[in-house]
Amino acid sequence: MAYITLKRNNFFNNLDIIAKHTKSVDKIALVLKDNAYGHGLYEIALMAQEYGISKVVVRTDAEAQLLKDMFAYILVLADTPKKPSETIRYTINDIQSIASFAKGSRVELKVDTGMHRNGISMSELQGAFAAIDKAGLHLEAVFTHHRSADELSSEWFWQNENFKQIKERSKELSKKFGFSELRFHSANSAALFRTHNFSEDMARVGIGAYGCLELPEALGVQGLQPVLSLYAQKVSSRTLHEGECVGYGATFESVKKMQVSNYDFGYADGFLRVCSNNYVTPKGKELIGRISMDNSSFVSEDEELLIFDNACEVAKSAATISYEVLTALKPHLQRVVV
Ligand SMILES: *Cc1c(COP(=O)(O)O)cnc(C)c1O
Repeated sequence: MAYITLKRNNFFNNLDIIAKHTKSVDKIALVLKDNAYGHGLYEIALMAQEYGISKVVVRTDAEAQLLKDMFAYILVLADTPKKPSETIRYTINDIQSIASFAKGSRVELKVDTGMHRNGISMSELQGAFAAIDKAGLHLEAVFTHHRSADELSSEWFWQNENFKQIKERSKELSKKFGFSELRFHSANSAALFRTHNFSEDMARVGIGAYGCLELPEALGVQGLQPVLSLYAQKVSSRTLHEGECVGYGATFESVKKMQVSNYDFGYADGFLRVCSNNYVTPKGKELIGRISMDNSSFVSEDEELLIFDNACEVAKSAATISYEVLTALKPHLQRVVV
């Protein structure tokens, strides 16, 4: 079976680099949503715990419940709590949703400072504080998300300016409503590395920790190493004669006699089909023909093939981003920490 390896040293190296930017391990909120970006929720959570990470971010309540005895702080990005929890905090993404949160829940208010995806609008801030107070929720933090932190544009500065205003008004409102001191956060990986002298309460770091952050050179950060590699096993080999074709639709035709093999990794495992006829492994093995559900063919005779050890390279072939390559990897693939 195809399988995944996770390099512990690389993961810890990335966390070291991130901690230098946040100035403390305690300010790292490791994003574990979507099966830890395809790496494996449990495997990454265990390593994170070993490293000393105390804060994590997930998408759903179900993910948070799996982790609740492992981390002191868990932020759920998009789910409403059934009952309050000591460790789990829930995100308010919309002012209408406040009434549906269980009384006594710990919540964090997301404010839309320009991305226009989730969060209350800036003009709703006071109304949201009042609704949170009325619903008997414990507001602990106000946060936002950047839409262009990884691009060389002025939007980054505009959103920072907007969030600065939100912080000031939130501090006044928290006094008015008698809430305790609020925490603030806005940075994802790209934003963290762009920030000089980071001073917020935490950074929500995903792709940087997994070592697949792609930034323009001017914004770049040195030394992050990809954590995940993918290997596949040979199912069969054959000699291809000139003019013979491989796979569905006969999209690859050999121009000379060659040895090819088929490996047990296909789109049902998360190999993006758009890479068909258009991918070369790190050791120079060429992918030929269409990727099928459970199989893909390469010009190779190796028993085992390293398909990739850097998702950014696959992303280039697929004209997508490393996030999609990684999160496409199915949970059924075995994960081995090395
Ligand atoms: C996914 C996500 C992050 C992490 O972003 P990276 O670019 O992977 O660091 C941070 N904040 C929110 C709200 C997210 O949805």
